[in-house]
Amino acid sequence: MGMRVPFIAGNWKMHKTASEAEAHIESLLPQVSDVHGVDVALCVPFTDLHVMVGSAAGSNVAIYAQNMHEEQAGAFTGEISPPMLAEIGIDGVLLGHSERRRLFGETDRALAAKVSAALDAGLRPILCVGETEAEREAQETERRLRHQVREGLSRVPSHRLADVVIAYEPIWAIGTGNVASAQQAQEAISFIRALLSDKAVAPSGGPDVAPTVRILYGGSVTAGNASELLRLEDVDGVLVGGASLDADEFSAIVAAAVGTPEA
Ligand code: PEP
Repeated sequence: MGMRVPFIAGNWKMHKTASEAEAHIESLLPQVSDVHGVDVALCVPFTDLHVMVGSAAGSNVAIYAQNMHEEQAGAFTGEISPPMLAEIGIDGVLLGHSERRRLFGETDRALAAKVSAALDAGLRPILCVGETEAEREAQETERRLRHQVREGLSRVPSHRLADVVIAYEPIWAIGTGNVASAQQAQEAISFIRALLSDKAVAPSGGPDVAPTVRILYGGSVTAGNASELLRLEDVDGVLVGGASLDADEFSAIVAAAVGTPEA
């Protein structure tokens, strides 16, 4: 079984102007610069990308966008393309966050194209999946996850699967303070990992890459609950919303990941 490097990603959502972003990264970098063996990324608004790439250059913090169009260029007013991100030195892109699915109509079909376009542009995609509270109550969590994972990865060749990061974010846990229990997080993430071994997701007949794909938990993660989540067998990191806006709290979450190689 291969080693999966823990991955801590912050999602700023629509927070911080460019000058606020610059002040934040200046305070964060010294706090995480000694951390080894953990991948750290910040997913920031488009207008912060340029200043963040400059400030984070040579550091151990990667800069990700929060969305991207799948086409290279074209008549898509207000959108940003993969080469636009790649050319300014962006490392990856968050795709299919539940807020984008729910508020902006993002579909699994569009996400399949985006995941594959990101890989083609040299950007690491973080594909978000997760069930609503009603789906969980109706015992439909696995059906929902199966659909989102299969569709979202349907255009990824199996030899590129290990370059995709999946974030399991139960919608009822996002921004609610209602974190999933350790058992709920482990169960859902081990289910997703089993899906990755499924021939419908990785049809090549080659080696099983599921043990090498990193799967994160997201939803009301804080410095207080991160350690327990990060120690779960199949949880390879966390995607942090609200708590990533504070440099001290985010660096405490990064510190909690040290020494927790997952596999
Ligand atoms: C998120 O935005 O992906 C998220 C998990 O938010 P929060 O940590 O605030 O619940």
